[in-house]
Amino acid sequence: MAIRFYNTLTRAKEDFAPLAPGEVRMYTCGPTVYNFAHIGNFRAYIFEDLLRRHLKYRGFKVTQIMNLTDVEDKVIRACRETGEPRESLTKRYIAAFFEDLDTLGIERAEQYPAATDYVPEMVALIKTLRERGHTYEHRGSIYFKLDTFPQYGRLSHFRIEDLKDGASGRVDLDEYDPESAKDFALWKAYVPEDGDIYWETELGKGRPGWHIECSAMSMKLLGESFDIHTGGEDNMFPHHENEIAQSEAATGKPFVRYWLHCRHLMVEGRKMSKSLGNFHTLRDLVERGYNPMAIRWVLIATHYRQPNNFSFDALEAANESLQRIQDFRRRLADVRGSGSDLREEMAACETAFGSALDDDLNVSAGLAAVFNFIRDTNKLIDEDAISKAGAAGALALLDRLHSVTGLFAGAKDDAVPDEIQQLVLERQKARRAKNFAQADAIREHLTAAGWIVEDTPDGPRVKRALERVI
Ligand code: AMP
Ligand code: ZN
Repeated sequence: MAIRFYNTLTRAKEDFAPLAPGEVRMYTCGPTVYNFAHIGNFRAYIFEDLLRRHLKYRGFKVTQIMNLTDVEDKVIRACRETGEPRESLTKRYIAAFFEDLDTLGIERAEQYPAATDYVPEMVALIKTLRERGHTYEHRGSIYFKLDTFPQYGRLSHFRIEDLKDGASGRVDLDEYDPESAKDFALWKAYVPEDGDIYWETELGKGRPGWHIECSAMSMKLLGESFDIHTGGEDNMFPHHENEIAQSEAATGKPFVRYWLHCRHLMVEGRKMSKSLGNFHTLRDLVERGYNPMAIRWVLIATHYRQPNNFSFDALEAANESLQRIQDFRRRLADVRGSGSDLREEMAACETAFGSALDDDLNVSAGLAAVFNFIRDTNKLIDEDAISKAGAAGALALLDRLHSVTGLFAGAKDDAVPDEIQQLVLERQKARRAKNFAQADAIREHLTAAGWIVEDTPDGPRVKRALERVI
C-alpha cells in the first residue's frame, strides 16, 4: 500500500510520490531562537521527526532542512529588552535548542540554516519579485502586492474577496491575523528601534521580513520545487501562504507538493504558547524529574492532526507504557526455551504497524498493534512457549520499531554499578539472616538511588527505575 498524507493544500489524503523517485526533500519551519522552545513547539518537531523516520524506514533517502530564525520581530524585541547583542542571544538559544532535540531523541535534520547566513539570497529573491512586478516600496520598505498573486489563500482556503476588509493596506509585523490578509513586508527599512540589527544591501539599509527567509532558504537548499513542507497549524496563515506567494510569483513553478501541519498542543483547551504564559519548557519538566522519554511519548502518541491536551496524568501513563516495554525487553532477554519462533506474530505486528504509519502517520493504531503483540507474547513467555531465537527476533523487531518512533529502545544505561550490586548482595545477606529491618533499609536506600529490587525465584533482580518522581 502506498504511503498517504493529508495535504493541507487539497484537504485530502493523497498517495505520496516524491519528485525524484526514492528521495524526499522536505522543509520544516524551525524555532525562532529568542528563548527556550516550549513543549508545544516540540509537538511540531516530534511529528516531523516521526515523518522523517517513517520515510527512512520505508527506504527513502530524506533531506530535511530546518531553519533557525535568528532575525525577526521577536528576536529584535528580546535584544532590545535585554540589551544583549543578537549574535550572542541567538547563539545561546540555538545551543539550547540542539540540547533539547537530543534530550527528546529527535533525529538531526540534514541541515539547519540560520536566516542571517542567507541575506544575499533573500535580497536576490526580492529583486526578482520586483522585476516581475509583484512589489512596491513605501518609506524604504518593500511589500509584496497581494493582488498580483490571485491564487493567494489556496493553502488556508479563503478567498481574498471574502475577507472582512479585502486585501487592503499593508502590514509590517511578522505575525498577524487571518482576518487581515494584507500586503506584507519583504524587506523592512531600518528604524532606530532595530539598534544595530540591519544589513546594508542593494535594497537599502534594513532587514528581511520573516516570510521571505523561509522561501529563500528552502529554494536555495532544496530547489524551486520540492516535496514536503511542514509546520504547526499556526504557520499555515500567514507564513506559509506568504511563502507560496513569494516563491511561486518569483519562479512561476509550483513551490511545494505536500503541505503537512500538526495541530497545536493544548493546555486546558487553549494553545500552549509563550504569549498566553501557559507553557512548560522541556528543561522545566526535566528539572522537576519527569522522564524525557515520557514527554516524547505524550507528544508523539496522539496523531498529529488530533487535538492533544497536555496533562501530568498523561505523562504518568506514558511512564507506565515505557515501563511495560522495558519489562518486556528484559523478559525476552531472559528467554531460554525452545518453543515458537514467533515468526507469524512478528510479521503481523510489523505489517499492522507499518500500514498504520503509511496511513498519514497513524501512530496510535501503530502503537496499539505493538501493545497487542507485547500482551500476546508476554502470555507465551508465561507459558514458556517461546524459543530463544524467537525472543531475539522480537528484540530486533522492537529495535526496528524504535527506529521509527524512538520509543522502544532498551534502557540506555542498564549496567548495574558495582556499589549498587554490593548493596543488593548485602540486602540478600540481611534477608538470609532474617534481619528484615536492615534489608528494608537497604531497599529504601536503593530506591532513593533510582534502583528497584525484585525478588524472583531465581534470586533478586535489580533494575533502573524509569519513573523519576512525579
Ligand atoms: P515559533 O518558534 O513560534 O516560530 O514556532 C516554532 C514551531 O512550533 C512552529 O512550527 C509552530 O507552528 C510550532 N508551534 C508553536 N506552538 C505550538 C503548539 N502549542 N503546539 C504545536 N506546535 C506549536
Ligand atoms: Zn518558515
